[in-house]
Parts: sequence; structure tokens; C-alpha cells
Amino acid sequence: MSYDSNNVFAKILRHEIPNTTVYEDDFVLAFKDINPKAKIHVLVIPKGAYVDFQDLLDHAPQSEIDGFLKGILATVHALNLTNGYRLVLNTGKDSGQEVPHLHAHILAGEKLCVNQL
Ligand code: AMP
Repeated sequence: MSYDSNNVFAKILRHEIPNTTVYEDDFVLAFKDINPKAKIHVLVIPKGAYVDFQDLLDHAPQSEIDGFLKGILATVHALNLTNGYRLVLNTGKDSGQEVPHLHAHILAGEKLCVNQL
């Protein structure tokens, strides 16, 4: 899948539509999911244009791969998730990925069901 710069997360990065930011650094933006599937549901996206995790690993410089992973952890710390969390990276059609810009779901804040999300 090629990157579509009109996707909703690209628009968020360009400040064309609003978001509720919980963490930001040079490599990632983390914001609340508009349709939360848990008490805490935050999305972490890289600032670079990557469709999914495979695209990031195949095409991003190491600094952006590290920045994405460290940005996820920094978001977890910013949210103070001392009771744990679930990390989900939907990738491709079978996963149900809707937005074609890489995003990590962080789910937390309650005891999560096996098939939550
Ligand atoms: P996925 O199915 O993995 O592609 O997840 C896409 C997620 O993006 C869903 O959980 C949506 O609720 C969320 N989402 C879509 N549009 C927005 C938006 N404008 N702001 C925040 N979250 C959004």
C-alpha cells in the first residue's frame, strides 16, 4: 500500500484537524483515540510518513525506528500506566487497520478483555 497523504493522521500532523495530545517529541505525536475502546486509549504515530510497521522497518532510518519505539515508551510514562497496558499495531487488511498511517494503540486504565480492540 502506498502512503496517502490525505489520511486523517497526516491531517492531524499538519494541524488541519484537532486532536487531544498527551505526548509529543521530535519523532512522535500521541493523542487520545476519538472512539476509545478502553478507559485509556491513546494512539502514538510517527511524524514520518509510513503506512504501517513493516513500512517503517523497511524504509525508515534507524533514528526514526528508535524514535517511534522510544516515543511509545515515553507516552506510557507520561500516562503513568503503573498497572500495565496493551500495545496493538494493526497492520494490513486482515487486522482491520483503518487508517493508513502507522499507529500504535495503547489501551489501559482497566482490566482488559482478551479481544478488546
Ligand atoms: P486502526 O483500526 O488500527 O486503523 O485504528 C484507527 C483508530 O483511529 C480507531 O481506533 C479510530 O477510533 C481512531 N481515529 C480515527 N480518526 C481519529 C481522529 N480524528 N482522532 C483520533 N482518533 C481517530
